Amino acid sequence: MLKTKYYYNPTTCSYEPVRPSVSTFILRTFSFLFFSVLLAAGMVRYYQDHVPSPKEAALWQANERLKAYYDVVQKKIESSTALLATLQQRDDDLYRVLLNTAPLSATERNAGIGGVNKYAHLGKDTLIAQTLSKVDQLASQLAIQNKSYDQIISLAKQKTAKFASTPTFPPVSKKHLKRISAHFGRRLHPIYKIFKMHEGVDFSAPMHTPIYAAAGGYIKWIKKDKKGYGHHLLIEHGNGFKTHYAHMDTIMVKERQRITRGQQIGTVGNSGDSTAPHLHYEVYCNGKRVNPIQYFVGELTAAEYEEVRKQSAYQTQALCSNF
Ligand SMILES: [Zn+2]
Repeated sequence: MLKTKYYYNPTTCSYEPVRPSVSTFILRTFSFLFFSVLLAAGMVRYYQDHVPSPKEAALWQANERLKAYYDVVQKKIESSTALLATLQQRDDDLYRVLLNTAPLSATERNAGIGGVNKYAHLGKDTLIAQTLSKVDQLASQLAIQNKSYDQIISLAKQKTAKFASTPTFPPVSKKHLKRISAHFGRRLHPIYKIFKMHEGVDFSAPMHTPIYAAAGGYIKWIKKDKKGYGHHLLIEHGNGFKTHYAHMDTIMVKERQRITRGQQIGTVGNSGDSTAPHLHYEVYCNGKRVNPIQYFVGELTAAEYEEVRKQSAYQTQALCSNF
């Protein structure tokens, strides 16, 4: 409120209000209008800056929702990446160790990661560019891991096929295996009484003790000779392995017949040049006769294997003349 100013009128001897001049009145009016307009403009600007419009408020809410979604997506990507890292570690430390193959190198693992940022057009370091880039990395590493599993499956199949062909099953049961009368190596010839190479193992066992196939395969041939190996047969296992069973009594299989690991193929006998009932057993690996004992390791306990290995070190008397 403007205060009314008074002055003393000596003529009337009283205080009378001072009447403003026209110019003062106009100046005051314009000043009032100017500051009113300035205040209104300030209020509008403040309103615009601090109070969003309904459309802006809706966009802001939508933006916040999108940020929350991206946050969820990023967390899912992070948990998937952690899970993938566990799978990669299991791949390197377990599967590849079991299959005796080298783990993937860091270069192989990280192929396709990095390089040109193809989402640069979406803005550097924006949430969407970062998220898409992480998704791409995850997809790339998943593809590499998938290929790695394909490789592991292929290796496992090869190993399985090779194991199926490897003569690991002792052809005579363990209780007879403890009485191996002649091992692979130089032995005293029972007839000529000189040391010669004995290229098989003699399992001393009672007549008619079952003889089992050391691995799966098929009967390549059967021979029933009066001398030499007597009743004997050869099993073809594949992957370069063959096994030969000699001095048998009965033969329970036929030529070309498919057999499985551990299947009974006949019984222990004393046929051919044999001085007592036993099985003369040979393993061929890629055409050469090798020590059969080395393949029994999976079927024997560590102590049993060590005992058999020790026995191999002694010079023993062979029961047959198959050298
Ligand atoms: Zn022998």
